[in-house]
Amino acid sequence: MSSANRTVDRLRPFTTTIFAEMSALAVEHDAVNLGQGFPDTDGPASMLDAAREAISDGRNQYPPGIGVPELRHAVARQQRDRYGLDYDPDREVLITVGATEAIAGAVVGLVEPGDEVIMIEPYYDAYAAAVAMAGGVRRVVPLVPDGDGFRLDRERLAAAFGPKTSMVVVNSPHNPTGTVLSTDDLAEIARLCVEHDVIAVTDEVYEYLVFDGRTHTPLAALPGMRERTLRISSSGKTFNCTGWKVGWVSGPPELVGAARTAKQYMSYVGSGPFQPAVAHALEHELDWVRESARGLQAKRDLISTALSDAGFVVHRSEATYFVCADPRPLGVDDGIEFCRTLPERIGVAAVPVCVFTDDREPWHHMLRFAFAKRDDVIAEAAERLRRL
Ligand SMILES: *Cc1c(COP(=O)(O)O)cnc(C)c1O
Repeated sequence: MSSANRTVDRLRPFTTTIFAEMSALAVEHDAVNLGQGFPDTDGPASMLDAAREAISDGRNQYPPGIGVPELRHAVARQQRDRYGLDYDPDREVLITVGATEAIAGAVVGLVEPGDEVIMIEPYYDAYAAAVAMAGGVRRVVPLVPDGDGFRLDRERLAAAFGPKTSMVVVNSPHNPTGTVLSTDDLAEIARLCVEHDVIAVTDEVYEYLVFDGRTHTPLAALPGMRERTLRISSSGKTFNCTGWKVGWVSGPPELVGAARTAKQYMSYVGSGPFQPAVAHALEHELDWVRESARGLQAKRDLISTALSDAGFVVHRSEATYFVCADPRPLGVDDGIEFCRTLPERIGVAAVPVCVFTDDREPWHHMLRFAFAKRDDVIAEAAERLRRL
């Protein structure tokens, strides 16, 4: 057998990721890794205790296919308390192996081969891979600069909807830009979904991590949307436990059922003892999350100032773990090349934003920096950025 790539055509574009390459370079040059989007501190202590307890208590076998009852109830309660969204924990909530499996399950369970799936560019790479696995066709609609932040290109969005559109994937708060979509942008998405009878899948894994007193509005809370939206979230980013892979999807029974059918043969179930621990965290540790979001906002300020002092144009990050910066004032306009040289040059790693896009041109120069890191790590990165 030859050593050529044997991956099927439809998945071949996803063979390698820039994250692996950048992380390897970060290790090689002992760089501060602001490329990867995970926190370097643990979540709430009582949640970690609850996981240890669940293991000691023998909760180590297959959990129920739809997830343990206390977590489904906690997820339903959280959505009712926070957004006034009512979901039946027994029929309208499904626990998944992270948001990633929720996305894959929703897409594979609901998209027919040849169906078009609209996503906002730059997009999280898992959406494109899931659509490819389903044999769907992706249509991208870009975010465009708006002051020092970004907004949706609503004309392009309206033009992307057509007879073959079956789904739109909406990620707000948005990775990689840190944008919280405005109420006008959300209203336009909702209007188009209703007009064209399209399903919305919303990736809201950063729902709690919004800054500067902003609020997050789920698309499902808009008129006409609850019945056509699968709302996805996850414990990983909210509670600093990205390795636990406990996520969930909420929506009307027929949509959750479709995702469940696919999910059943992806993992069947997962994260057994971590499910009750996350239920505990949702019930008892939302104050911890509020503090964490406040801390992230301060980290956003630290890294934004450091980037700006180093000569970047820094875009406004309103939420998430990420901020985008434009290095063109430094005489750089190739983001990929720049990211390849940064670890060796100054000992900092970032990722180029264009790897999250189909149309690379508008994003060619842009870099994403992750700031969910300890203050001393960010301070070290700030120090090194001065070498530019
Ligand atoms: C991290 C991330 C995910 C993956 O969540 P998991 O729960 O770890 O699977 C999904 N969407 C976005 C936008 C993310 O940043």
